[in-house]
Amino acid sequence: MSDPRPSRPATADTIPADIAPGSMVAEVALLAPLPNPLSYAVPEELSAQVHPGVRVQVPLGRRTAIGVVISLHPLQEQKWELKPVSACLDREVAALDPASVAFMQRVSTYYVHPLGLTLKTALPAGLTQQNPPAEKQEISYRPGEAEGEVRGTKQQALLDFIRTQGEARMEDLRASFPQPHAPLKRLEEKGLVKRHVSSTSRDPFAGLDVVPDAAPQLAPEQASAVEAICAQSGENGDFAPFLLHGVTGSGKTEVYLHAIAHVVQHLKQQALVLVPEISLTPQLVKRFRARFEHQEVRIGILHSGMSVAERHDIWREINHNRIDIVIGARSAVFAPLQRLGIVVVDEEHDESYKQGEGLRYHARDIALLRGQMLQIPVVLGSATPALTSFARARDGHMTLLSLTHRAMERPMPVVEVVDLSGIKQPCVLGEKLLGALEQTLEAGEQALLLLNRRGYSPYLICRDCGTTFRCPNCDITLTWYRSQTLLKCNYCDYTEAPSESCPACGGATIEPQGVGTEQLEQTLQEHFPAARIARMDRDSTRTKGSQQRLVDQMESQSVDILVGTQMIAKGHDFSGVTLVGVIDADAALNFPDFRAAERCFSLLAQVAGRAGRGSMPGRVLVQTRSPENPALECALQHDYHAFCRLELPMREMLGYPPYGYLVNMVCSGLNRAEVEKSAEHLCQQLQLHTEVEILGPAPCPLFRLRNRFRVQVLLKAAKRYPLRQVLERLPEFNARLPKQVNLILDVDPLDMM
Ligand code: ADP
Ligand code: ZN
Repeated sequence: MSDPRPSRPATADTIPADIAPGSMVAEVALLAPLPNPLSYAVPEELSAQVHPGVRVQVPLGRRTAIGVVISLHPLQEQKWELKPVSACLDREVAALDPASVAFMQRVSTYYVHPLGLTLKTALPAGLTQQNPPAEKQEISYRPGEAEGEVRGTKQQALLDFIRTQGEARMEDLRASFPQPHAPLKRLEEKGLVKRHVSSTSRDPFAGLDVVPDAAPQLAPEQASAVEAICAQSGENGDFAPFLLHGVTGSGKTEVYLHAIAHVVQHLKQQALVLVPEISLTPQLVKRFRARFEHQEVRIGILHSGMSVAERHDIWREINHNRIDIVIGARSAVFAPLQRLGIVVVDEEHDESYKQGEGLRYHARDIALLRGQMLQIPVVLGSATPALTSFARARDGHMTLLSLTHRAMERPMPVVEVVDLSGIKQPCVLGEKLLGALEQTLEAGEQALLLLNRRGYSPYLICRDCGTTFRCPNCDITLTWYRSQTLLKCNYCDYTEAPSESCPACGGATIEPQGVGTEQLEQTLQEHFPAARIARMDRDSTRTKGSQQRLVDQMESQSVDILVGTQMIAKGHDFSGVTLVGVIDADAALNFPDFRAAERCFSLLAQVAGRAGRGSMPGRVLVQTRSPENPALECALQHDYHAFCRLELPMREMLGYPPYGYLVNMVCSGLNRAEVEKSAEHLCQQLQLHTEVEILGPAPCPLFRLRNRFRVQVLLKAAKRYPLRQVLERLPEFNARLPKQVNLILDVDPLDMM
């Protein structure tokens, strides 16, 4: 049967619907890569339930899809007969309140990302499916000989997923694999996995004993910070961004606690606290619980270790207005708090606030946007603010609040440079660091050692011909994991067994080069056989709860030396740590990125801040081959302002943030020539705007990643609006790309590898 009426462009298929004139039309953003929302008619029987922010099921072609209602308007004239909304998925309350819908729209516009996909990122996975997750089944991995018999890529992928997690949740499997049941059953039959119903709650903080505490008397600087923030909250409040700059241990958390107490208990509003990685900051959660929970303030925690079902439950509690304070990582910035009165972004400089794929948002930046839309205070806290944040405060766009010394008059740790430039051989543990470790162990105190490289060594090399072992899919050497006798790619998870002889020259001497955390741990154990040594990096914390266990062991002092990557630098408050060692400060400095110095400064300042937080003073030893590096010098002096004076003029000269705005466009695809040509074309189209400087096309530093070739075009402008004008033409650029080439857009990029 053919339909003579014109079909409506870019919308749901048209079929005659039983919609009376005068009914409503819902604009629905489907959780799919569509550029615009689609219009659907609201049938009579659903009209009471369909509001902005409600999730609905709608027909799309022959399938059904889920979307969020963005707006409603009366059906004007029946030019096209719209398909009707099939069902309303939110019964009692909408998944999003109207203010949150407006917020997501702004986020979508800012990052030039389809609204539906923005919503999909914001909503917890449980709400992007038609049926809410119910049972909490877990699948655990059982090593066995049958592993060699696994057939089929689906089974293999599933097994890999479960193995890396140790124990996976059924919901997560369903979220990651289209149809996991059949392959899972095969694996079960082979005895490689076992299914069981999970009994315990996964909230690592659920069972914690919390001793109620009372708020301490604030120091004068703290008090005036709290006063400034409170003056901007409530009825007479305004959008008030604050930068709370205080050295590590200066009492920033105490400022948050006081300001939040005012907003939540006095003004009866809600608070949102963002932390970089919540599993790393159990102490912060504990302090909030201790301060508030016995006062009938309800705290909701959102973190990455939670199951789909648990996230869903918390989100629903928030929807029902049963939560007063939400503490969570990056994605908690979307939590639909309807009476939000303050947002705190702790460790605002931390780059884990930036999402690296899909909607590449920065939680701190959009927290500011949300605060502006709601006219509430937003407090960014850090000992080492991002230079962009510092510049904003300096230019009067944020109020700077400073805490200039540590609470309780505790001294800052003494930082010493250990100059290794005179030593010819590679040196991991210099004499001075070894001596300091010995002293620390003798005194029964703890040490943290930072080394920002995982595995045993970053590569293997043939001594005869210099061949290194590289990933076949990426432009990178394979990291050597000696404990597992495996070479692994840290980007795409490719693994291979090392060969006995060099594949290029047949030489038999293959040696590890460079040192990673695994080797450091082993070397330490050889030096200090009696010491209890643990390692914290992405490899040792893959299984659930493992990170928490390490933190607990450090707190209970059942570990003497903790070795780790930058994970150990973040926010921990281990009172027994008196020695911090930085194994190789140069690694961070030599990174090919204009932010290398900033990252290095911040990492050193943060890791140094881990020493001497208890009653005993701390000592920090930084090993380097370039002791005269000025960024290093500033870190040693704990002098953030000196670092700014050093670094800002260089940024200004180059027009980099905070003196300019960047957008990175990356073309990628399997065919090198096609990718390069597409990037050329893209550049030619972009040349038109005189206020936008175009850098590139240039191969990305990681030219090939997961088999895809990558070429980038960096846009730079002194102001935002010319960039926005260029970005408005994105659909046009996209349309001209060959099908096999992807264009990724990163607004305010941080990682440009
Ligand atoms: P930051 O968040 O800046 O690292 P914290 O708020 O964690 O600092 O404070 C560091 C330590 O000092 C904590 O143990 C905290 O309880 C304590 N502290 C902070 N402010 C005060 C105060 N006004 N009186 C007493 N102790 C304080
Ligand atoms: Zn790889």
